[in-house]
Amino acid sequence: MKKFLSICLLGLLLDNMTIALADDNDQQPLWRQVSFPLEKFTRYSSRFGWRKMGGQKEFHSGLDMPAPSGSPLRAWASGQVVSASYDNRCGKHITVVSGDWRSTFCHMSALVVQTGQLVEAGQIVGAVGSTGRSTGPHLHWTLRYQSRLVNPELVIQAMQLAWQGQSVPVVSPAEEVPDDAQNSLLPIGP
Ligand SMILES: [Zn+2]
Repeated sequence: MKKFLSICLLGLLLDNMTIALADDNDQQPLWRQVSFPLEKFTRYSSRFGWRKMGGQKEFHSGLDMPAPSGSPLRAWASGQVVSASYDNRCGKHITVVSGDWRSTFCHMSALVVQTGQLVEAGQIVGAVGSTGRSTGPHLHWTLRYQSRLVNPELVIQAMQLAWQGQSVPVVSPAEEVPDDAQNSLLPIGP
């Protein structure tokens, strides 16, 4: 964990230089050092990608997982909290940057970390809620790799394979993401 954190910090310090947490050929170590973000997981309620909301087609930039309000949320990877704030759509949310990865949790009922704070994978960062544009308590999880949206479901699959000791295919950013979703740092939909 310490080694991973130092790599993260080095990555943050060196910013745009070539040291990355995981490049396209070297994601494998990452999968064994991350944490599933949600306790009390039951199912996915809305997947990443295009969907219909109120008759309108919209791009869902994350993965929704319902859970009881107040359930603990854990940092996915070790890194630095770059945002812990409130937004009309995303509600109470935090974003953690871990090398090239950027993980955002939306609709939280409580935040227990602050902007600038360093967190470790698995550390409790807050609780599930229904703040912002949300119809019930759930985690909306958005992930980016080198600024580009990634389907979190692929990351969860990679984590599961790695934890079972199996080889893991490279997880690449999603293709054909509309510009408004790609460019909006916070998710557009609930
Ligand atoms: Zn969502």
